[in-house]
Amino acid sequence: MPVEIIATSDADLRRAAEILASGGLVAFPTETVYGLGGDAWNTRALARIFEAKRRPAFDPLIVHIAALAALDDVADLGALVPEARRAACDLMEEFWPGPLTLILPKRPRVPDLATSGLPTVAVRLPNHPVARALIELSTGAVAAPSANPFGYLSPTRAEHVAAQLGDRVDLIVDGGRCPVGVESTVVDVTGPAPRVLRPGGLSLERLRTVAPGIEVLDRTDPAPKAPGQLANHYAPRRALRLAPAGGLSAARPKGRAAALVFDAESRRRLEESAARFAEIRVLSEAGDPVEAAANLFDLLHDLDSGDCEELWAERVPEAGLGAAVNDRLYKASKKT
Ligand code: AMP
Ligand code: MG
Repeated sequence: MPVEIIATSDADLRRAAEILASGGLVAFPTETVYGLGGDAWNTRALARIFEAKRRPAFDPLIVHIAALAALDDVADLGALVPEARRAACDLMEEFWPGPLTLILPKRPRVPDLATSGLPTVAVRLPNHPVARALIELSTGAVAAPSANPFGYLSPTRAEHVAAQLGDRVDLIVDGGRCPVGVESTVVDVTGPAPRVLRPGGLSLERLRTVAPGIEVLDRTDPAPKAPGQLANHYAPRRALRLAPAGGLSAARPKGRAAALVFDAESRRRLEESAARFAEIRVLSEAGDPVEAAANLFDLLHDLDSGDCEELWAERVPEAGLGAAVNDRLYKASKKT
């Protein structure tokens, strides 16, 4: 039986919340990507998330809350040294609700399955009315990784979830397209200085306005230095090759190939070059990194179900959300 997809009326969300509260799995929209939600306090629900995604158990989940009042149930800010506590609070005050996940000391009652046995927990207060209402109506803490099979492209529409997870999820709440389009930025505040573990929907430039000394983990290092940071991730089924910015003109695809370029100018240059692509898709005509991030997974899903057997992409300028776009393109690409 195909999975049921519902809308976002009060009655719909109450039904979805009941399924969550009774240990079921509900996919729902957030401003970043669709999440595969399960009650964070229910170990069976957490186990089902890992099983549905075929996600390795060493990859911890993000716990989503709907209000700051719920933070204390999940995380123990008191266990941080004063400077770290201040940094955490400044970041929350400025960027929550929003696409920022904080790594914080965990409360003992948070199941180890949610944190892969780590003494820390990843927490986010999303800025999406449907996500917030659903979390509030259920148990107040919902673990929700992206609603895709492990390693595959993240979903930015309800249809992506239905196509990828099918009946491995009990219900899908269709709240339209996710406005940010890439996952949250993950910042660890438990160390000597705040550190970005994963670039995402909140740019480094904006983080620096609050935490000027913030550090950044090198994600191109093939040996993961943080949990759940494998070099291959967010990948389409078709092989994706990644070229430097403006480097696609030198590409010589062997078969029927599609190119994903940054802006109208890069498309023009590619069309005038000797490279032969059956299809060229543009992340943002105007060269806006925010729009490029919002379109990224949508376009990759489209191309991956289209009739080109090879996908090529170019890096985009690193500024703003460009860093998150490049990170996802790198992780999606073939490394040899
Ligand atoms: P997602 O797959 O979008 O739900 O993101 C979850 C990611 O957050 C994981 O793959 C980790 O990279 C990161 N994460 C979650 N919990 C922790 C933690 N306790 N410490 C460090 N990183 C974490
Ligand atoms: Mg994910």
